[in-house]
Amino acid sequence: MSAAARGAGAQVAGAQVAGAQVAGAGVAGAPVPGGRAHAPMTMFRVAVAAVADLTPHLRRVVLTGPDVRSFVDDGPDQRVKLLLPRPGQRRPLALPADGWYARWQAMDPATRPVLRSFTVRAARPERAELDLDLVRHGDTGPASRWASRARPGDEVALFGPRAEYVPRTDTDLHLLVGDHTGLPAVAAITDRLPPDARGHVLVQVPDPDDELPLPAPPGMAVRWLHAAAGRDALTPAVRALGLTGARRPAAWVAGERATVAAVRRHLVDGARWPAERVTSCGYWRAGAPVDPS
Ligand SMILES: Cc1cc2nc3c(=O)[nH]c(=O)nc-3n(C[C@H](O)[C@H](O)[C@H](O)COP(=O)(O)OP(=O)(O)OC[C@H]3O[C@@H](n4cnc5c(N)ncnc54)[C@H](O)[C@@H]3O)c2cc1C
Repeated sequence: MSAAARGAGAQVAGAQVAGAQVAGAGVAGAPVPGGRAHAPMTMFRVAVAAVADLTPHLRRVVLTGPDVRSFVDDGPDQRVKLLLPRPGQRRPLALPADGWYARWQAMDPATRPVLRSFTVRAARPERAELDLDLVRHGDTGPASRWASRARPGDEVALFGPRAEYVPRTDTDLHLLVGDHTGLPAVAAITDRLPPDARGHVLVQVPDPDDELPLPAPPGMAVRWLHAAAGRDALTPAVRALGLTGARRPAAWVAGERATVAAVRRHLVDGARWPAERVTSCGYWRAGAPVDPS
């Protein structure tokens, strides 16, 4: 796949900050900071249409199904819960959208779907297609294991979407900070920045081979950092930018939980950025799953 094709696709974009649960259904119309309404959250029954390795550790899974035709974009960092089958199941046990999380909690833990959170990198409802870009970090996690073996026709379900980040118009300094798991959302955000946006993008991936084309407005300085998953190369890099006292900043930060907390602490306590101008979310936790099993 060419570099351009690797970077291609994108527009779209999930409910909670710092740890993330997309629970509950039917929250259409819930207010979003900035005054807009959220897209409706619902359950999508989908199957794998195609699989492509974007980089050695990032696999794009294209999902399709008639339900996707009604997908409504919620914003650039829109997350979904991916519902995976348990070993021996052909598809995850069905869950209606209404009250799905309470129903899931009441199900037999041995047979209920595995839940993990991902970002919708791009949605093409007119073609009934959604792209998820999943980090392959080995076989210890069910989602990573599933991604490594995904084949066309494999059946899963999604609940969502829900986005947190509302790109601000009242800012003169954008800061986007993410590790490998945050890269799909970072890319979806840079896709939607206004052409005159100014600021910094910092992305940590394991190796130079894991970099992707990341088209961004010319005023956005993109910097790739190389460090193993869970090692924090991001906080020192953010500190080194020397952004103390920025007047109208807007930050989006996601990745390993402790790193996200450190970056947020630096921006809010150290650099004195207003807390409401820093959107942050722990996407995974070194040493243990974030999602309930
Ligand atoms: C809102 C949101 C959006 C997200 N979007 C994306 C996305 O678009 N793409 C994506 O790849 N991830 C994304 N994530 C992160 C993803 O949900 C976690 O990485 C999740 O833990 C993966 O599930 P798993 O079953 O593979 O591993 P788990 O069963 O959750 O964890 C098993 C082990 O693997 C470790 N682990 C988990 N993730 C990683 C990792 N990336 N690198 C190294 N070790 C890891 C854990 O510490 C644990 O020890 C998102 C998370 C949230 C909350």
